[in-house]
Amino acid sequence: MSQVHGDTTVGSATHCPYCALQCGMYVANGEITPREDIPANAGGLCQKGWTAAELLTSPERITTPLLHGKPVTWEEALDYTAGRLRAIRAEHGPDAVAVFGGGGLTNEKAYQLGKFARVALRTSQIDYNGRFCMSSAAAAVNRAFGMDRGLPFPITDIGRADAVLLAGGNVAETMPPFVRHLTAMRSRGGRLVVIDPRLTQTARLADLHLQATPGTDLALALGLLHIAVAEGHADLGYLAARTTGFEAVRASVSAWWPERVERVTGVPVAQMREAVRILGEAGRAMILTGRGAEQHAKGTDTVTAFVNLALTLGLPGREGSGYGCVTGQGNGQGGREHGQKADQLPGYRKIDDPAARAHVAAVWGVDPADLPGPGRSAYELLDALGTPEGPRALLLFGSNPVVSAPRAGHVTERLAALDLLVVADFVLSETAAMADVVLPTTQWAEESGTMTNLEGRVLLRRQAAAPPPGARSDLRILGGLAERLGCGEKFPADPRTVFDELRRASAGGIADYSGITYERIAAETGVFWPCPATETAPEAGPHPGTPRPFLDRFATPDGRARMVPVDHRPPAEDVDEEFPLYLTSGRVLAHYQSGAQTRRIRSLNQVASEVFVEVHPDLAERLNVAPGDRVRVRSRRGAAEAVARVNASIRPDTVFMPFHWEGVNLLTNPALDPMSRMPEFKVCAAALERCTGEDMERDA
Ligand code: SF4
Repeated sequence: MSQVHGDTTVGSATHCPYCALQCGMYVANGEITPREDIPANAGGLCQKGWTAAELLTSPERITTPLLHGKPVTWEEALDYTAGRLRAIRAEHGPDAVAVFGGGGLTNEKAYQLGKFARVALRTSQIDYNGRFCMSSAAAAVNRAFGMDRGLPFPITDIGRADAVLLAGGNVAETMPPFVRHLTAMRSRGGRLVVIDPRLTQTARLADLHLQATPGTDLALALGLLHIAVAEGHADLGYLAARTTGFEAVRASVSAWWPERVERVTGVPVAQMREAVRILGEAGRAMILTGRGAEQHAKGTDTVTAFVNLALTLGLPGREGSGYGCVTGQGNGQGGREHGQKADQLPGYRKIDDPAARAHVAAVWGVDPADLPGPGRSAYELLDALGTPEGPRALLLFGSNPVVSAPRAGHVTERLAALDLLVVADFVLSETAAMADVVLPTTQWAEESGTMTNLEGRVLLRRQAAAPPPGARSDLRILGGLAERLGCGEKFPADPRTVFDELRRASAGGIADYSGITYERIAAETGVFWPCPATETAPEAGPHPGTPRPFLDRFATPDGRARMVPVDHRPPAEDVDEEFPLYLTSGRVLAHYQSGAQTRRIRSLNQVASEVFVEVHPDLAERLNVAPGDRVRVRSRRGAAEAVARVNASIRPDTVFMPFHWEGVNLLTNPALDPMSRMPEFKVCAAALERCTGEDMERDA
């Protein structure tokens, strides 16, 4: 097939490059049209999806490898990189080389990256930016249900529910086609409750909005659970049959009486009672959490409290009801299943489990004893770079931590302290601009691979456009490096070959993909995992996949959900005289993650071109700030300037900044959740002031 860069006639049915909804789309002749056959979007797209084809012909694409900023051939770039990796490893040991991946990488790439770290580099030092996304929800549901699948039910179940509680998710801006499922629910008479410190576009759709103080979702969940028990909404038959630990949880919430919770959260008692009544009286109800509730140093416990509430009401494992996490990044689900996490092997296996190591080592053709153990989590890894105890070299794929990591100024210093930074990307992101070596990659529609969307549905993102000459796929780059490190034969560049190996590596694991093939995905518009292969019993036919994994039992040893008592605690950094405001962060409709892609799309940039800070009118008046003023926001970690937007949709004690530009993450607090190692992105103490004329002159 002859291919010309930008020629989008190569194939056409594919998926969006951005969020975890993974909307289906056709790409042809530079035009995008939505697919009707993918239930998540069923003919809808948001403006990011509609404009995604512009990325394919962006003038900002890099197509030539760069070595210290100068164009070089691929051979020179790969020879140099492999030579430096070998030298650093020889001098400092295998853990002196680190790998950092991303939640937007296809399953094949995430799998290959984990294998590359453990087999080609023999380093334990690998983690990825998904740690910053959904790791608290993953830790909580692994503890409760024994398995982490974002939505353990098809997304269309939401439209058939009678009530939905969404805690800390703004889907109307982050993934607008999701709203059609909420609208379907409401048009049948269902009720929507939203918990958010801001009156977001999603909160505006709600029948009830609980505008909690940032950092208090856990107290609010405990209060809702207290009311549910006190007012007779606990489903005692379900609790006895399907859970353990309810009595301890019931005792633990007795101290969280509604008036106390109101004092902590700012949510009126009457609203809490109404929320519980809506959920408790619904025939089918769902509790969903997003990053607002999860990105905290107590995120795992917060999600656990919402899961406890869902279990008390008897929701998980009942058709049409349940608990789910609204995953964010494009392959946020699949990216956390196949081994790019510090503590994990493919199939959602634990790297310190001897049986898991033996199974995966056999697939990889290595001795289990040669596989390294668990490494550092994402922030801890970035924090250790270039230190005497930490890695000296970093290979980075599909991530832009200079913008997206917490305490980003410090992370930038750590990246600068490395002996070698290698970045694979298709644009010169803020992080790529710092790299010793930049390796130009192909992107979404220029290559094929599988993505697992927020429902746990494995999808095929087909190649639909020809890549520019000079760009190489991440798989081919890993293969080229592996060849130079002496194990090229273990790293094929063909995605289907890699997927077939992933299937074998995942077989028998929690996230078992062994029965999923490219052909099945195409024929069935996706297959839900777990989907084991059934070759041993061909007469039984292929496994159908598992849309609702908890209907009969949870994935725990005794089949019951585990209820664990948790308690509220204040944010890692509370407000004080010097920093009297809560700073929270999030996304806007026009942009995705660090903005490395969407900030390069003209029409999206016209809609949202610069970082802003949202300020309540009372606070603005007190600080003498007018709409459009340049203001400086400060925290204990740094300062950032932004344009003030004054509106009453935010609490007067809170300011909000989007994280698609360099700015808010200079301020965020890297305090980590003890279980998930999630940083506290969603709340820190801050101060705000108007920029003076002197500031403006200096900045000019
Ligand atoms: Fe769909 Fe998300 Fe892409 Fe928007 S960004 S079109 S919601 S996948």
